[in-house]
Amino acid sequence: MRVLFVTSECAPLTKTGGLGDVSAALPAALRELGVDVRVLLPGYRAVLRAQVHAGPAAAFRVAGFDCRLLESRLPDGVPVYLLDCPPLYGREGGPYQSAEGVDWPDNALRFGVLSAAAALVAQGRGPSGWHADLLHCNDWPAALAPAYAPDCPSLLTIHNLAFQGNFAPDVLHPLGLPPELYAPERAEFYGKLSFLKAGIVCAHAIATVSPTYAAEIRTEEFGCGLHGVLERRKAELHGILNGIDTREWDPATDLRIEQNYDAGSLERKAANKAALQRRLGLAANPAVPLLGVVGRLTHQKGIDLIASAADELAALPAQLAILGKGEREHEIAVAACAARHPGRIAAAIGFNEDLAHAIEAGADVFLMPSRFEPCGLNQMYSQRYGTLPVARATGGLVDTITDGETGFLFRPAETAALVGAVRRALEVHARPAQWRALQRAAMARNFSWSAAARQYAALYRRLATPVAA
Ligand code: ADP
Repeated sequence: MRVLFVTSECAPLTKTGGLGDVSAALPAALRELGVDVRVLLPGYRAVLRAQVHAGPAAAFRVAGFDCRLLESRLPDGVPVYLLDCPPLYGREGGPYQSAEGVDWPDNALRFGVLSAAAALVAQGRGPSGWHADLLHCNDWPAALAPAYAPDCPSLLTIHNLAFQGNFAPDVLHPLGLPPELYAPERAEFYGKLSFLKAGIVCAHAIATVSPTYAAEIRTEEFGCGLHGVLERRKAELHGILNGIDTREWDPATDLRIEQNYDAGSLERKAANKAALQRRLGLAANPAVPLLGVVGRLTHQKGIDLIASAADELAALPAQLAILGKGEREHEIAVAACAARHPGRIAAAIGFNEDLAHAIEAGADVFLMPSRFEPCGLNQMYSQRYGTLPVARATGGLVDTITDGETGFLFRPAETAALVGAVRRALEVHARPAQWRALQRAAMARNFSWSAAARQYAALYRRLATPVAA
C-alpha cells in the first residue's frame, strides 16, 4: 500500500498547530504497520535552509510554475518530498502568513499548486517507479488534490472545519480547474471557491479527528456552513481520534519538569506543584487546589468563560495558572484577572513549551472549556500527568475523558457550568484516596498513535481496493 500524505505543515520542519504534529506522528505510525507513506510538503524557504535534501527526484510544470521535487527524510525516517517552487514558497515568514500576521495574497495559487502537484506525484509523475495507491489530503491547503485526480482513491482529513480556504473564483482559470467545479453542489461557497468544500465533495472519503466532532460537524451549530454537504456525505465521514506523542509527554521521563513521577509515585507530583507556584509567583501552599490552563487564548477555547469565572474560582479557594497567547482582548482579560488576584492567579502571555510541561505536571486540575474542540491534545496530556481535566462535553473532549472517572465534563458554555464542574472536581480532590484512584485511571489510558494508525490503515485498504465487478 503506497500513500501520498499531503500537508502544509509537518513538525519539526514547520508547525503552526496540531496539523504539524499529526503530520509527523501519523505517517511514522503507519510505516510501522507496513504502509509505504510518503509526505509531500511545500519547500518553504526555512525548510529548505534547515533540512538536508537530495537533488530533484522529479520536475514538472504546474499552473505555469516550474516545480522540482526534492527528496528528504523526517527525523524518524519517513520519506518527505519537498515541493520546490521559489516564486510560491521561497520567502521569509510562516506557511500561511507573513511575519506580520497577514495572509499571503497568493495563497490560492500556493496551495492550489500543492494540490495539483500532489495529483501528479500520486499518478506516477514523481520519483521514478513510484505512484500512490491512495492520496491522503489534510485540511484546505491540500483539499483540491482529489479534484485534480478524480480517479485516484483519496481521503481528506479535516483537522479544523473553521479554516476553509475560500477564494475569489477567478483562481479557477490559472489553476487549470474545470469551470464546472464552481457550482453550488460542488465547490462554490457563498460566491467563493472553497478549497475545503471541493475536497469534501470530491474526496472518496472524509475523516476528522474524533468521532464526536464527526457527528457535530453535520449540525448547524458546528458545521461552519458546510453541515449540509457533510450530511450528504455522512456514509463516508469517519471520526478517527488523534494520538499524542507519548515519549514527549511522559511524566516518568520528562526532562522539563522538576520531579519525574508515575502512577506508582504520585506523591512526587507535589514537588512539581511547589516549583510551579514558585516560578509563577503563586502562594507556596501545597493544600490549595491549583488549576492549570494552556492554549490559544481565543473564543473557541472558552477563555472568556475562564476570565469571567476567575473571581469565583479564586474564592473557592483555588489558584489559577494560565499560559497562552492569542486574541488581544483575551490576553488583556486574563492579565487583568492576575492583576486582581496576586499570588492566586498567574498569567503568562506567550508560547512556552517548557512552561506548558511544568503546568501539566504541577497543576491538580486542567481547565478546557472549549466551545468546540475537533480533538484537543492538552486533555490527553493532562490525564497522562494525573492532572484531571475539567472540560466542556464537546468533540474530542467527550471521546477522551470519562466523566467522574478520568475527569469532569460540563455541557452549557456558561460560567456557572464551568464553576459547577470545578466544584465537583474539588469535592473529589478533598478526598485524597478517591482522587488518587481517578488519577491512576486517567494515567492508565492509552493515547498512543497506534490505534489511529490501525484505523487509517484499514480505511486506506478499503478505499484502495477496487470493488469487484
Ligand atoms: P489547537 O490545535 O486547537 O491549538 P490542541 O489542544 O489540539 O489545540 O493543541 C495545541 C497544542 O499547542 C498543545 O500541544 C498545547 O500544549 C500547545 N500550546 C498551545 N498554546 C501554547 C502556549 N502558549 N505555550 C505552549 N504550548 C502551547
